[in-house]
Amino acid sequence: MSEERSGLSAEELFARGDERTYDDFTLLNTQFSETDKCNVSLTTDLGKGVVLRVPVMASPMDSVTSPRLAIALARLGGIAVIHYNHKDAEGRPNIGKQVEDIMQVKRSQNGFIEDPLVVAPEMTIGQVIELGNKNREPEEAIRTFPVTENGQSHGRLVGLLRREDYFLGSRTNLKVKERMLGLDGLIVGDSTMDLERAREMIWQEHIKSLPIVDREGNLVYLVTRGDMEKSEQFPFATTDKSGKLQVLFAVSTWPESYERVEKGFAAGADGVVVDTSQGFGRHPLEMLKYIADRHLGKLLIGGNISTSEAARELARLDFVDAYRCGQGSGSICTTADAIGIGRAGATAIYECARAVHESRSKMVTIADGGIRFAGDIVKALALGAGAVMVGSMLAGSDECPGEKKLDERGRQIMEYWGMGSKKANVGGEARVRDYGNHEEGIVRRVPYKGKLGKHFPAVVDALLHAFEVSDCRSIADLHNGVSQGEVRFGLRGPAAVMESRPHD
Ligand code: 5GP
Repeated sequence: MSEERSGLSAEELFARGDERTYDDFTLLNTQFSETDKCNVSLTTDLGKGVVLRVPVMASPMDSVTSPRLAIALARLGGIAVIHYNHKDAEGRPNIGKQVEDIMQVKRSQNGFIEDPLVVAPEMTIGQVIELGNKNREPEEAIRTFPVTENGQSHGRLVGLLRREDYFLGSRTNLKVKERMLGLDGLIVGDSTMDLERAREMIWQEHIKSLPIVDREGNLVYLVTRGDMEKSEQFPFATTDKSGKLQVLFAVSTWPESYERVEKGFAAGADGVVVDTSQGFGRHPLEMLKYIADRHLGKLLIGGNISTSEAARELARLDFVDAYRCGQGSGSICTTADAIGIGRAGATAIYECARAVHESRSKMVTIADGGIRFAGDIVKALALGAGAVMVGSMLAGSDECPGEKKLDERGRQIMEYWGMGSKKANVGGEARVRDYGNHEEGIVRRVPYKGKLGKHFPAVVDALLHAFEVSDCRSIADLHNGVSQGEVRFGLRGPAAVMESRPHD
């Protein structure tokens, strides 16, 4: 006689066709756990060299994704998508600002810095300081500059201007050549050395920066102690092959996006998200095809979708690496009521991920919208997602755009708004498609959460704990357990939801 199983399999949970969301169910503790959380890997491979150690992505929203947030999240193992809602002084879309954001992330941490900020001997210290401050937070400003004969990135190296060679506030009229450390006293590496050797040289020679030159004496790279320390401090960081943090960017389906795509990739982005609330249609598909034709080596993310029909269509294209799954489930979203079309988050993920799997596609499902707790992430992963995309979970972080304010009761708050809200006014005057002129989003207050590095590790710890309890060592383990009916689910009603929250 077979032993009775607790709860339901995923198939049974969704069998009746009712729409379900995260609050409607929990995972059950049916597995005897032999797993320790220090042996759990949360790694997810989005494709095209973008591998996350923590499967969390920041949504492309102008109330969430500043370059500071993108840097902080990538250091912790996730990744952010830079939004496309930058505007100029007249309120028109500004592609240049999105490009600057991407560059700021790519420049924030390096192994070999291939394109360091370089200065010319004739520049003044004042000009150099301005260059180092440009587009960077004060604590991230660049203060050490290789000096090349012609001021070009890979020109002949003639010296190094270090932080100790000048004051920030006085004598800034002096020329670089008067204060730089010239070649005579400068320790340089040669272009055949690997990163380990360069780091060892920095250690042995007690120096902060090591310019690396070729046989002709032209600058090839810069290696810095600061970067070395960052990579030791953030061992799970999401980095590319050369040690730079990875970052994605969003484009709309409007004609201006063709220019954005080219400029975003030229700025060094690792992938792109075609960002539309309705990703199952002619315009998004045309944009996906355009990008795939020209940038096959880069990560390409489609969506948003929420049905198996749409998932099968994206899978059939064969060049979409991942897609955002969720329509109308975001915490600032009013789409489901505004236009009467949407889907409960959990059902969307289960159906779409299953359709992709049945299509034998490797496309990764990104659960997008409605994730409030670490537990919701666990549930989304269990239903077939490879990663989640979040807005509200990160909103209110110190690194988010916008100011922290006090509410009527003296609590610190920040504002968080939907990209379809009037406040975001995506596209300014050019707001013609996607969210259209009606509103599909609202403005909310969220508590100020402090720095991401302080509040986000607790989320990661909760995920590791959930995997330990479920006896799963990886996301693939969890997916297998669910598809074999080993991981079980409990369906719950409103009273059970109330019981699971603090009782008064
Ligand atoms: P959250 O994590 O706050 O629950 O949801 C964030 C997600 O909501 C975003 O990743 C995006 O998919 C979606 N979203 C963002 N702004 C809007 C909006 O104004 N309207 C709608 N319908 N969805 C939005």
